[in-house]
Amino acid sequence: MDVSGRRVAVIGAGVAGLGAALFLADGGHEVTVVEQDVMPGIGDGDEAFTAWERRSVPQWRFAHSFSARSRGILEARAPQVLAHLKADGIEMFNALTSFLPAEAQRPEDAAFTAVLSRRPAFELALRRSVEADSRIRLVTPARAEGLLLSSEGRPRVEGVRLTGGATLAADIVLDCGGRRSPVTGWLASAGVDVPADRQACEFTYYSRYLRATGDGPVTSGFPRADLGYVICWTFPGDHGTYGVAIGGPPWDKEFKVLRHNWAWERLAGAVPAIAGWVDPVTGGVPVQDVQVMAGLTNQRRHFVVDGVPLTAGLLVLGDALCTTNPFFGWGASIALTHAAAAADTLARRGEDIPALTAAYYDSVEAEAASLYRSASTMDRLRSYRWRGETVPDADVDAAEEEDLITRGLIPAATKDPDLLRALMRRMALLEPVETLFDDPVVRAKAEAARAQTQAGAVTMGPSREEALALLAAAP
Ligand SMILES: Cc1cc2nc3c(=O)[nH]c(=O)nc-3n(C[C@H](O)[C@H](O)[C@H](O)COP(=O)(O)OP(=O)(O)OC[C@H]3O[C@@H](n4cnc5c(N)ncnc54)[C@H](O)[C@@H]3O)c2cc1C
Repeated sequence: MDVSGRRVAVIGAGVAGLGAALFLADGGHEVTVVEQDVMPGIGDGDEAFTAWERRSVPQWRFAHSFSARSRGILEARAPQVLAHLKADGIEMFNALTSFLPAEAQRPEDAAFTAVLSRRPAFELALRRSVEADSRIRLVTPARAEGLLLSSEGRPRVEGVRLTGGATLAADIVLDCGGRRSPVTGWLASAGVDVPADRQACEFTYYSRYLRATGDGPVTSGFPRADLGYVICWTFPGDHGTYGVAIGGPPWDKEFKVLRHNWAWERLAGAVPAIAGWVDPVTGGVPVQDVQVMAGLTNQRRHFVVDGVPLTAGLLVLGDALCTTNPFFGWGASIALTHAAAAADTLARRGEDIPALTAAYYDSVEAEAASLYRSASTMDRLRSYRWRGETVPDADVDAAEEEDLITRGLIPAATKDPDLLRALMRRMALLEPVETLFDDPVVRAKAEAARAQTQAGAVTMGPSREEALALLAAAP
């Protein structure tokens, strides 16, 4: 083993855990991953969608998109994952160049290439890569049920306790247990309280995958429509599938009927940009019933307080550290970013475990703070709009920036490749989300475009009253 090699125990084989295992194995570390969910024998990504139950990952069959940042990290650190995706027939797609004429494209636009996949097929490629890597030990199905903690001075995590009494000693433990990770509860029982910022997304997700019939709209444009009371949007999939989702306010009880297939189909079919996507002739046929997820929250946990990590030897990654409204499609990219940060941190030689722990959080905290702040702000602004409330003083600047994006940048981006790049860099997390208007040229062009755009809502579908009339009677 390389002299910098550490014994690393990873709780959870989701996106963060599998990514971290691959990146760390390359760094010469001895990696053991513990995963509680059972995985059946699976042929390909299409079968993974139906046959692979992930009881611990409730969003498993919800529409997901995997951003260009995810693809870029995998290409740089674990290209075998992209090879598995390719062998499974899963395509890469460059949303930027698909909009630009050839003469406006630049070589660096390749960075905008993303993966067209559902979550099970994406995770299957990660999982197959881990299974094929003899340097990684995968212990599954097995459940971590506690931490091995020493508490001389600041608590130090020294491994993991498994159900049945086995233990796994480690120099470093990675918590990749997802949004419902039990680790914070274990720490609380040991007297270590982990502070958290939380804000409800106020967004209920009604999602469905369809399989394209004939030449359905699998990669054509991926429209979205904000109706002012709900949002409809579309996702690329794999094996001829694509997703369509409707996001609505949890407080608006009248829209809860969208959990029924008939209601979901009626509303989606009444939105011009989406109607073709849910039509069985021009679009596709559903491969699942409507999947509903409510109670979503933006959450950021603080494992560093007053500049000092709460424990040494515990690195928290992915959703366990920070979750944002899935509407923004950032979660998998952030999980892989944390995995890369953990690998880079442990590549530092000659530093002790407390120093490595602090270095890991130093490398991920600023972005976690920024993403939490941005997602929470965008969710608040949407709630004010949907509730018809006045924007409070504290959010006036953010509302002005959002207005500049929706009435200035987005309309202008359809005609200006540089603005389109700026917008898509932000959406794909190719640059920090809060720096969009730091470039004075982007700001000036967006302001000029906004000056030409009429204020007021653009009609993208039925009014709320028309929608409620459509949803009033079950067939
Ligand atoms: C409705 C919805 C839609 C989403 N859409 C998108 C999208 O379009 N794009 C995007 O990038 N992200 C999306 N996300 C977010 C994305 O799914 C998550 O960010 C991502 O799964 C985080 O990966 P993770 O590895 O941190 O956690 P998870 O994927 O949740 O993995 C956690 C793993 O830990 C295991 N585990 C937990 N506890 C234990 C234990 N005690 N012992 C052993 N194993 C354990 C679990 O079994 C699981 O395998 C969406 C989320 C939701 C809710």
